[in-house]
Amino acid sequence: MHTPDDARSRMLRSAAERAVHFLNDDGAVNATVDAETLRNRFYVTLPAQGRQPEDVVDHLCSAAEGGLLRSNGGRFFAWVIGGTLPSALAADWLTAAWDQNAALYACSPAAAIVEEAAGAWLKELLALPQHATFAFVTGCQMAHVTCLAAARHALLAKHGWDVERNGLFGAPRVRVISSDRRHASIDRALRMLGFGSESLVLLEPDVDETLEPGAVEEALAFEPQTPKIVLLQAGDINTGAFDRFDRVIPIAKRYGAWVHVDGAFGLWAAASERYAHLTRGVDGADSWATDGHKWLNVPFDSGYAFVADAESHRAAMSIRAPYITAHAQARDQIDWNPEWSRRARGFATYAALLELGRDGVAATIDGSCAQVAGLVEQLERLPNVEVLWRPLLNQGLVRFLDPRPNASDGDHDNRTEDVIARVVDSGEGFFGATTWRGKRAMRISNVSAQTTDGDVRRVVEAFRAALTACELAPA
Ligand SMILES: *Cc1c(COP(=O)(O)O)cnc(C)c1O
Repeated sequence: MHTPDDARSRMLRSAAERAVHFLNDDGAVNATVDAETLRNRFYVTLPAQGRQPEDVVDHLCSAAEGGLLRSNGGRFFAWVIGGTLPSALAADWLTAAWDQNAALYACSPAAAIVEEAAGAWLKELLALPQHATFAFVTGCQMAHVTCLAAARHALLAKHGWDVERNGLFGAPRVRVISSDRRHASIDRALRMLGFGSESLVLLEPDVDETLEPGAVEEALAFEPQTPKIVLLQAGDINTGAFDRFDRVIPIAKRYGAWVHVDGAFGLWAAASERYAHLTRGVDGADSWATDGHKWLNVPFDSGYAFVADAESHRAAMSIRAPYITAHAQARDQIDWNPEWSRRARGFATYAALLELGRDGVAATIDGSCAQVAGLVEQLERLPNVEVLWRPLLNQGLVRFLDPRPNASDGDHDNRTEDVIARVVDSGEGFFGATTWRGKRAMRISNVSAQTTDGDVRRVVEAFRAALTACELAPA
């Protein structure tokens, strides 16, 4: 029997306090120790006899010190990594404490029903068809796998091929039409599903970074008997660009293709009055993948798959074993998810949605977009900054130019890397580089509910200092 002040309770409360301390400390965003230091701390000899739990937690905290990024704070603009809302974090702690196996209703009725409720809310917010089925998965990567497994079932069934039974040996070839800007998680999903990257038919996007409807139609018309998937983008990772769903999806449908949408962060535009126009027509797709751990600010890991055709989704995922107690009145997650035993992910998502409400979700989206726009504008006023892509949503691209009169593209690339490294090393802000249209550029991305105007001003000052330091540094 445990009591409120026994060793376990004290240790858990102290762990919670350490967590709160980490969240409240507005220190360096970057890691301040290197891999060797971390190895020296973590690689202790595995003891024959275990240690006291509180010693273990002490050890973990001191070993990790300086090796954690403050990516859930307000000054992180690299990749697309969200923060954590207070209720979602608390729900995630409780999820660990409750330790439910969210495979089946029978294993945890509350975990099953909270997913039903949160899944319905997500469809409403993202303006997806209410009949769509869903799965709470680890992230967009596994959402792609789930959705494309449903696509594989549907397309091959139309050709009289039962893929769940016969596999892909001897199956008709499936072609996947996509942009050469697609996220690499698409390629891996295709690999895992047995399509292989050779199944990709890649199209070059137009100047808006979106697929040209005529080019998609041409690719669809080639070998009309071949089953096809069209993969569209809601929010490109560099530019935040959206494919023109209202034009491309009707074409794909005419050719009997399955349309899947990668909307890891961009699908959330549908929840904002200001940005919803970007997603016009997206509800006509067959499947959608998005994330909770990005713009919804739910802790990792949290992604969502949605499929318009329940039958295909269930056929691809459902599994039965003699010891499984299927439930007639409730949703068994195992019928829709790629995992067996799994974390009860619904609680954190449910909490985030309830904390924000519809208006709060929209304000989070609009807020990130405003911070990115403000940051790009303020950087542009600094010397030798070129804006390559003005944000349509929450993604911008800038480049730092080498001011020497005969500087080459390579010099500008180096200057861009140099400025980013200086700002990251300062601990004041965190950014990453990308290659876009053949040039090195700095990506500016934000999906954090934490970022304030003050954070943006602080980050701009870090760039001002880095630019000055570059001028003073020997060439
Ligand atoms: C982040 C991201 C992914 C991958 O999602 P995970 O949640 O990391 O698995 C896929 N596509 C886009 C556009 C992304 O931004």
